[in-house]
Amino acid sequence: MNIHEYQGKEIFRKFGVPTPRGIPAFTVDEAVKAAETLGGKVWVVKAQIHAGGRGKGGGVKVAKSPAELKELAGKILGMTLVTHQTGPEGRKVRRLLIEEGADIRKELYVALVVDRVTQRATLMASSEGGMDIEEVAAHTPEKIHRVAIDPKTGLEDAQAEDVARKIGVPEGSIAQARDLLKGLYRVFDECDCSLAEVNPLIVTGEGKVVALDAKLNFDSNALFRHPEIVAYRDLDEEDPAEVEASKFDLTYISLDGNIGCLVNGAGLAMATMDTIKLYGGTPANFLDVGGGATAEKVTEAFKIMLKNDKVKAILVNIFGGIMKCDTIATGVVTAAREVSLKVPLVVRLEGTNVELGKKILAESGLPIISASDMGDAAQKAVAATKG
Ligand code: ADP
Ligand code: MG
Repeated sequence: MNIHEYQGKEIFRKFGVPTPRGIPAFTVDEAVKAAETLGGKVWVVKAQIHAGGRGKGGGVKVAKSPAELKELAGKILGMTLVTHQTGPEGRKVRRLLIEEGADIRKELYVALVVDRVTQRATLMASSEGGMDIEEVAAHTPEKIHRVAIDPKTGLEDAQAEDVARKIGVPEGSIAQARDLLKGLYRVFDECDCSLAEVNPLIVTGEGKVVALDAKLNFDSNALFRHPEIVAYRDLDEEDPAEVEASKFDLTYISLDGNIGCLVNGAGLAMATMDTIKLYGGTPANFLDVGGGATAEKVTEAFKIMLKNDKVKAILVNIFGGIMKCDTIATGVVTAAREVSLKVPLVVRLEGTNVELGKKILAESGLPIISASDMGDAAQKAVAATKG
């Protein structure tokens, strides 16, 4: 799960990670009031969307007077912001963060991720902040420093200080940078983050080290123990089909192809998408209905898939283990009738009660294309999309 920058900074402050003072705003009036409350002479108006690259895309602007702030807030609120992370369709801006202008002397980069090779939380840091870290990694990888963190000790003082020096934090600010990095590690660890990225981390004219940006991703499997983080969820930023699917406990991911896939089990769903690709097709979604799918769940899954008008065929691939093939067949028939299915439907069933399942499909009178195995199913689905 992703959250907004201003929410990430709220978490940072709780863990003692310094940030600029800032106030979120949902309207231009609120933005003007926020600037008044903050005081000072320079403010930064920052679009809040779940994507980076906002600065380059025109979503981060400096205002030097209340009038300019009002004008910029009016321009950015409601705009469709296109960045390299939003895709060409962009994202509508519905929230702003009004922040005091920082006096930036240096822009650095720090992030915590899980390194699956060392199986440890890893601190990545670079002197090259503010820009795309992907560029730094591609052209000057030696400028990215990595520290694997022992879960028993957490980030140690010496490790934090060493990294701070390597990325060019001035000597007088090392102690503060160390505390910030340790706080950031505690955020990552205690909030069950999969990513905690600060780009840029700045050193101010006065030598203070401050997190100027905040990008936090959370491990969805751990959200049950963080209701306070779940409360930050912004459904406007999520794919509507995925939100709908999550209500029915379906694991659904939108993709850009034209073959809708309904599969039980994540591994089989991945293999199904691979097989579709192998035969020259492209999946419209990943969908795992899980082991205990009911007819109702299957119907909802069909409805969600069919809301996507790019879908030209549906491929149902079920291995009946815990789930019986007759249950899924009943679900498929009910769903196909309820949504008055217009696109070709290819079904491949295998496993427990497969004969009964096939019989239910055959006797339904629906124009279901039956497939003998996964390869056959994928080929038939690809053929069906071509009319
Ligand atoms: P993004 O990563 O989405 O582009 P950032 O929050 O990193 O957004 O902001 C982009 C740039 O805008 C920063 O690198 C920094 O130069 C400038 N900036 C952001 N916030 C402030 C601030 N409070 N004061 C001064 N400059 C800022
Ligand atoms: Mg940034």
